[in-house]
Amino acid sequence: MVTVKIDGIEVQVPPGTSILNAARQIGGDIVPPAMCYYSKLKGSGGKCRTCLVRIAKNSAQNPNPAPKLVASCSTPVADGMEVENITSPQVLDARKGVVEFLLLNHPLDCPVCDQAGECDLQNLAFEHGTAQTRYEFERRTFEKIDIGDKIQLHMTRCILCYRCVFTCDQLTDNRVHGILNRGDKAEISTYIQNSIDNDFSGNVIDVCPVGALTDKTFRFRSRVWFTKPFNAHRNCNNPKCSGKVTLWMQGKDILRVTARKDQFGEVESFICNTCRFDKKDIKDWTVEGPRVLDKKSVMNQNHFLHEEKLSNKVPDYDDKQRLLT
Ligand code: SF4
Repeated sequence: MVTVKIDGIEVQVPPGTSILNAARQIGGDIVPPAMCYYSKLKGSGGKCRTCLVRIAKNSAQNPNPAPKLVASCSTPVADGMEVENITSPQVLDARKGVVEFLLLNHPLDCPVCDQAGECDLQNLAFEHGTAQTRYEFERRTFEKIDIGDKIQLHMTRCILCYRCVFTCDQLTDNRVHGILNRGDKAEISTYIQNSIDNDFSGNVIDVCPVGALTDKTFRFRSRVWFTKPFNAHRNCNNPKCSGKVTLWMQGKDILRVTARKDQFGEVESFICNTCRFDKKDIKDWTVEGPRVLDKKSVMNQNHFLHEEKLSNKVPDYDDKQRLLT
């Protein structure tokens, strides 16, 4: 094990662990934000630069600081390393710049975007953004592309994090989409306008950090903060599907089904399209109880169930009935 200090807090991790994952073991505010890294997707990370940190001391053998900020998702720790994240004004300033860049072309359409309330970019802009933009040029716009009957692509919102590409590459047998062109012409697209339709394609919706890929079966039906999340499961026939989901409900109606997400916004286990798109009847599911959202977001501000959360009480049948109505 190697010992590393992040914002003055010491943690021991196996050699080869990235600074980001070492920080996640400590948890809390010192965890750098990540828009492209996704621990469940091989090869992800190293693109968005939101997780930049300062290495104040390289290692026990080399006490010099690193000459420039590094991406914490792709930089391994060394024994005796000292890292600064929120304690470094340089890091906070650089992050502000990264947010400004990410927002150069991203439309400010949160009032009509289905991702609003659970959007990583929205949270990032809230914590690190500025009220003004210095960008004076015309924003990028794209022709609309139909990528299937269940998933809506809004290319103008895409930040080119590649998560959806890795998801389809690693979870499905026939990936039909990727990033075409390069530079400011780069865009997510399907090959010759194929549609993305395979058993696990819906997972691209969950991994997308912004509202570029949204669920057509949920579009414009409700703001997410007007729905109540519940953990539920079913015995899914698909052996690759965990069958463990979050149901987003209004009364007894299931408005959408997503995989369960942890405190870093990553899915706990992937689910198939049948569970996600076709099982919208409460009888299809065994409801376990209300979902407490761990991730810091507008979604868990005064959202629900503070008493149960505080007392750690497992809701009983009557609670569930009360919450379902
Ligand atoms: S569509 Fe979403 S997940 Fe895919 S590259 Fe763009 S921002 Fe990332």
